[in-house]
This record gives sequence, structure tokens and C-alpha cells, in this order.
Amino acid sequence: MTAQQKLYEGKAKILYTTDDPDILLTYFKDDATAFNAQKRGSIQGKGAVNCAISSHLFRQLEAKGISTHFIDQASANEMRVRMVKILPLEVVVRNIAAGSLCKQTGLALGTPISPPLVEFYYKNDDLGDPLLTRDRLLLMGLATAEQVEQLQSMALRINEILIDFFQHCGITLVDFKLEFGLDAEQKILLADEISPDTCRLWDQGEADVARRVMDKDRFRQDLGEVESAYQRVMQRVLANPVSL
Ligand code: ADP
Ligand code: MG
Repeated sequence: MTAQQKLYEGKAKILYTTDDPDILLTYFKDDATAFNAQKRGSIQGKGAVNCAISSHLFRQLEAKGISTHFIDQASANEMRVRMVKILPLEVVVRNIAAGSLCKQTGLALGTPISPPLVEFYYKNDDLGDPLLTRDRLLLMGLATAEQVEQLQSMALRINEILIDFFQHCGITLVDFKLEFGLDAEQKILLADEISPDTCRLWDQGEADVARRVMDKDRFRQDLGEVESAYQRVMQRVLANPVSL
């Protein structure tokens, strides 16, 4: 039997093979980690919430012309995706200063960033996912110069689409992390997930710096009410239909 073999178990998802070698099933887990897995826990219901949010956002991006790995949502916790060779890069887009950017630059939390910043990190847990320069990335052969250009422009376009979508949800898209992969034709597809685990999302209806947080920072910083914040993101996202 070739179907449903576990291919890889990561921190947040499990990848299964299917009877089609080009198609994988990704199972979203409730497990949560932060600070390079030094902090571990579980967020009840997170798997289903992140699967639903990711599926909806991938559909929205596809409708706007972004090529993604998304095929369909197979069940509450499962997404069917096109298998890609993941580029070992975390592509981060920032619209407002938060997290490691504040720590490393001294910029105050909440400082608007215009135009948006696109950063590349090396997806390598042993090294702690270090920030790369463009020259280091090329030196290491993690992508070609042409691919870097394409990743940069795709990331900025995805940012425009997601800012607009979340605006309709009353949510400010502060920053987010993307992963990309290459299909059999070497075409770049947006892969992995887009969820409160991988985005910073602030509730526009809350001025308080702790209360406005609707993403994994609630878990990282022990702000409480993690489950309900993820649920509220899902409700608002699913309430906004995919638009062309
Ligand atoms: P990690 O602990 O590495 O963050 P996750 O649990 O988030 O892992 O996800 C499992 C793995 O699946 C990640 O390494 C991610 O890069 C990979 N992945 C995501 N989408 C695809 C895809 N379409 N094809 C192959 N691998 C993928
Ligand atoms: Mg991951």
C-alpha cells in the first residue's frame, strides 16, 4: 500500500503520502512550539482552525493569481497539497515592527514599515533559523538570483492581497512568514501554511497592546485566551468570501 504513509512529522503538521506521488496530505496538529521549540505546548482546536484559515487564504491567493500548493481541504484537519521541494528559506514580510525586528534593531513595537520589508531566514532549526543577507543566501546556494527576485515579488504581492483581505476582517496584518517550494517543472509555488501560527494579527477593535494580539504571540508571551483568539480569527476569515 502506498497511500497514507507518514513522510515527515514537523512541529505543527504531519505530511502523508497519497496514492498520487505528486500529492501530499498535510495534517494540522494542536501542538504548539515557540522560540525554536524551547517552549512547547498545545493549543486546543488549533489544528482544525489553522487548516480552515490556511485553506481559505490559499483559495483567496489563488483567486488573485498566486500559484500555491493548495488543492483542497480534505477534512477538518487535513489539506491536500501538491508536493514540492521546499526551499530552505523562511520569507518574512513586515508591515509593522514587532518580534525579532524590534529586538535586533531597537525599533519600537508598532512602528509602521513602509515600504514593507522582505527578509530571508535560513530554515534550519539547528542554527536557530538565522537571518540571511542576499549574498549569504546566494553563497550558500539556497536559491538563484532569479529565484530571489521572484520570491521577493511574490511575497510583496501576497502581502498586498492579505493586507486587503484581513482589512475586511477588521484585522491588521503586522507580519508573516512564508515558505515556497519548487514543483517538478521548477516552478515556484507558495507552500506550507498561513495561519495565526505564522502571522502577527492585531484586532483593529482593541487598542490595548496585549488585548489586540490574535496570534501565536499569545502563546509565546503567555497572554492567555489563546484558543479563543485563534477561533475569532477563523470566524472573521471564514465570514469573508473569496473575492476576485
Ligand atoms: P516544521 O517543524 O519544519 O516547521 P511543520 O510541522 O510546520 O514543520 O510542517 C511540515 C513540513 O512540511 C515543513 O517542513 C514544510 O516545509 C513542509 N511542507 C509544507 N508544504 C509542503 C509541500 N507542498 N510539499 C512538501 N513539503 C511541504
Ligand atoms: Mg512549520
